[in-house]
Amino acid sequence: MSDFLILGGGMAGASAGYFLAEHGSVVLLEKEDQPGYHSTGRSAALFTENYGSPTIRALSVGTRPFLEDPPAGFADHPLLGPRGVLMLAPPSHAEIFAEELANGRKTAPELREVSLDEAAALCPVLRPGAFVRAMYEPTAMDMDVHAIHQGFLRGFRARGGRVVTAAEPRSLSRADGVWRAETSAGDFAAPVVVNAGGAWADEIARMAGVRPIGLVPKRRTAFTFDPPAGTDVAHWPLTADLAESFYFKPEAGRVLASPADETPMPPCDVQPDEIDVATAAARIEAATVLEVRRITHKWAWLRSFVADKTPVVGFAPDAPGFFWLAGQGGYGIQTSAAMGRVAAALATSGEVPADLARLGVRKENLAPERLGS
Ligand SMILES: Cc1cc2nc3c(=O)[nH]c(=O)nc-3n(C[C@H](O)[C@H](O)[C@H](O)COP(=O)(O)OP(=O)(O)OC[C@H]3O[C@@H](n4cnc5c(N)ncnc54)[C@H](O)[C@@H]3O)c2cc1C
Repeated sequence: MSDFLILGGGMAGASAGYFLAEHGSVVLLEKEDQPGYHSTGRSAALFTENYGSPTIRALSVGTRPFLEDPPAGFADHPLLGPRGVLMLAPPSHAEIFAEELANGRKTAPELREVSLDEAAALCPVLRPGAFVRAMYEPTAMDMDVHAIHQGFLRGFRARGGRVVTAAEPRSLSRADGVWRAETSAGDFAAPVVVNAGGAWADEIARMAGVRPIGLVPKRRTAFTFDPPAGTDVAHWPLTADLAESFYFKPEAGRVLASPADETPMPPCDVQPDEIDVATAAARIEAATVLEVRRITHKWAWLRSFVADKTPVVGFAPDAPGFFWLAGQGGYGIQTSAAMGRVAAALATSGEVPADLARLGVRKENLAPERLGS
């Protein structure tokens, strides 16, 4: 028997395991052959402090120091690289621009308004006249998601943690103060089980007889296409609009684009819908002088949210020893280090680490109780 059993080896489970392994013995069960097969392996790899609820922003700010300067041996190359975010206001969003800028500057102080000429210098393919104002976040970064995920898993193992793959529980039940998971890779037991099952977190709760949190997996589509011949896209920022109707960014010499879709789906292996790809292409062609001619790769995966779009981290009120770590939505990579620390602290001491509390991370804003019954 271990002290903690984690279900799910994506970014949430791996980062929580990394920090929990400082407190006791931990076994991490992953249903797939490889941890990171699901959402963690499909992200757009952007770190921005101007995105999401106040709690998400605080967790992102709290993750930055770890990603900028990870512990020795965590990774053999930098985890962050320069990118920047250019956010454009179409005429329909001119009125909310000032409010969005002021709100963003609370957590991304270098966010600033830029002229449309400066915007065109940053991203030379913008269509003249399509936007009325622009803001630029120079401190937004690209993340090496694979290196971050592998760093957490490697550190977890170095601290004595054990990863078991192809281990999907057939049953999960509690007796005599201990949770027991029966899997095809053997049976495992611990007094505390951490539900880091990504899109499947509510299914895991149902299997355990725990009240679900109303998690909704939402499909997000992405694809890459070739820029015009001879165009060097490497230094373009991630470019998006305030209406959240598209974004695009450089990706290994090509352009990665998304319609920023959020289509509710059951948890599954998702396929991109042609309509979403065509929608994104049309929006990008309207916003820029780019032509989306040849799509080189397309994919879709799930971003899972509860109603307030803030993660659920804490013990279930209706099931002793059942710890929620779910609802990371579209921010699970950029919040990973702080989220892992918070999860480990709440599962052991019951309190948010003081430095993260100072940034505004509150136990009650993460607790499953906030969602009601
Ligand atoms: C297209 C796209 C773009 C994104 N862009 C960004 C971005 O730019 N920046 C950012 O920070 N985030 C981004 N995200 C969000 C980010 O990818 C997720 O928030 C994050 O990966 C969630 O991690 P997770 O560990 O909760 O989920 P997952 O990575 O899905 O991991 C959950 C794991 O649990 C396993 N599992 C499920 N059920 C069981 C079970 N019963 N037993 C054992 N294991 C189980 C699954 O196999 C899976 O490996 C994006 C997501 C998408 C889809």
